[in-house]
Amino acid sequence: MKIKFLGTSAGWPLPRLGCQDKICSSTDPKDTRTRSQAIVNDKLLLDIGPDTYQHLKTPGLDPTKTKYAAISHEHPDHTFGLWDLGHIYNSEKIKVILNEETYRKIKKLFFYKEYEILILKDGQKIIVDGLELSLLRVNHTTSSFGVSIKEKTKRLFWAPDFKALPSATQEELSGADLIAMDGSELNIKSRNHQTIKEGISLGKTLKAKKIYFTHIGHRTLPHRELEGYVQREGANFQVAYDGQEIEI
Ligand SMILES: [Zn+2]
Ligand SMILES: [Zn+2]
Repeated sequence: MKIKFLGTSAGWPLPRLGCQDKICSSTDPKDTRTRSQAIVNDKLLLDIGPDTYQHLKTPGLDPTKTKYAAISHEHPDHTFGLWDLGHIYNSEKIKVILNEETYRKIKKLFFYKEYEILILKDGQKIIVDGLELSLLRVNHTTSSFGVSIKEKTKRLFWAPDFKALPSATQEELSGADLIAMDGSELNIKSRNHQTIKEGISLGKTLKAKKIYFTHIGHRTLPHRELEGYVQREGANFQVAYDGQEIEI
């Protein structure tokens, strides 16, 4: 399975407008981050944030190959690209996969019925193009999910926003090959997001083979320092950056 991180920021991109702090004045290209989004095997988008248009223009990516898009939850940084996604020339109608509660909240964003909508119940599995997909609950808003994607024996879990994972989700994920998880905060507690520190202990509990932090927030560290911080806990902990491609 091929995963490309198209964007890796929290709700607002980095650098933040008008800010001169260490992250925002960094000259390392890895400190420029756009809204969290990834694409699997060049055809399944994970989340549809406001940077979708720019992401689909990434060299080497053919936007007409995008066939599916799964949405984790209703927040604007994960859904406001729907407008652009519905207007790709020479493509089939994109199938948007989401939970029914999420759909109810963002129905109005589906302008002009340019999409085919696939509603999934909690934990329900569907197979698209050889990938088995399901939405597993995470604690963030009352209707937030992580996207589980299995290809043969490999499993990826996409969960850019969560405070904690319910035990049913944890059981299901044990031993996952790659979890892309919430990196909004380093160690400052916030109401709806875990800290990277908590993510490291969660990763150890889940015995995940690889953890990539994404949805990187403003109160963390410049990429290089953040990478050093997580890697002290083991080589399986990584910080994703925009444009990074990995194979599991
Ligand atoms: Zn978010
Ligand atoms: Zn959110």
